[in-house]
Amino acid sequence: MSNTVIQVDLTTMQQIKTAYTPFLKEKVPQGGVFSAKLPTCSITAYKSGKILFQGGNHETEAAKWGSPVAATKTVRSSEPVSNSFLSTLSAIGSDEVGTGDYFGPITVVASFVDKSLISELQQLGIKDSKQLTDEKIILLAKKLIKIIPYSVQILRNEKYNDIQATMSQGKMKALLHNKALIQLLEKISPIKPEAIIIDQFAVEKTYYNYLRGQSTIVKENVHFATKAESLHLAVASSSIIARYAFLKEMDTLSEKAGVTLPKGAATQVDRVAAQLMEKGVDLHGFAKLHFANTEKAKKMKK
Ligand code: MN
Repeated sequence: MSNTVIQVDLTTMQQIKTAYTPFLKEKVPQGGVFSAKLPTCSITAYKSGKILFQGGNHETEAAKWGSPVAATKTVRSSEPVSNSFLSTLSAIGSDEVGTGDYFGPITVVASFVDKSLISELQQLGIKDSKQLTDEKIILLAKKLIKIIPYSVQILRNEKYNDIQATMSQGKMKALLHNKALIQLLEKISPIKPEAIIIDQFAVEKTYYNYLRGQSTIVKENVHFATKAESLHLAVASSSIIARYAFLKEMDTLSEKAGVTLPKGAATQVDRVAAQLMEKGVDLHGFAKLHFANTEKAKKMKK
């Protein structure tokens, strides 16, 4: 083993930080409290209370402060695992928003929830964003993004419409999920999640077919589950952050359009689309043009 991880309380963490003052590095990774480079090893302390000692004399240095915690046991994709067990793990969860909305982008978020944070997030009221009002989502997302590491991918309308001619929405989603997972794994490295849970939008085989030809495909310890937002707080957190990112994009687009763009794909959407067409606005940068709403709006337009 080339590293040692210990778990400490926050007071101890501050003491350790102080002890390493001359060795502190300026850059601290996402979710980190401090990083230090000693002649003998490197140290990274995380908000979760975990401190990672790497290289050289990692064991000796770590032993000054605590005893090592057991190495993370990951749950392989092929392992049959119950949902109730999955929900207790330190996991990355990913989810997407905006796929059924005529106006606005698709946003995909992956986030990492260490199991030590599960009860805190439960108390905050983190759950599937579909069960929350937008006001509550904004409130919770602002808290979440300070607590957990995450990655946001936004596919804006111009690009969506350009690639839509040759690519299914399923493939777009798969590419976005994969990219979010790659970025987040880099961010939290060297910490590895015990499992990765994707809110299932396609069967596993189809998902990986979509990703064929990609240079990096996240596959290790990946699990697919339907209604995964209620299965693991990492997926629920991702659903909240993704909706928050979507709402912010919608605000920007509404401002650009000079009208509040409605969510969803119902009649109100057709009406606003028709209004914009009458004003001569090109919807390419605002809407998912292949939706039936485009034709309906054209008919509605005077
Ligand atoms: Mn979902």
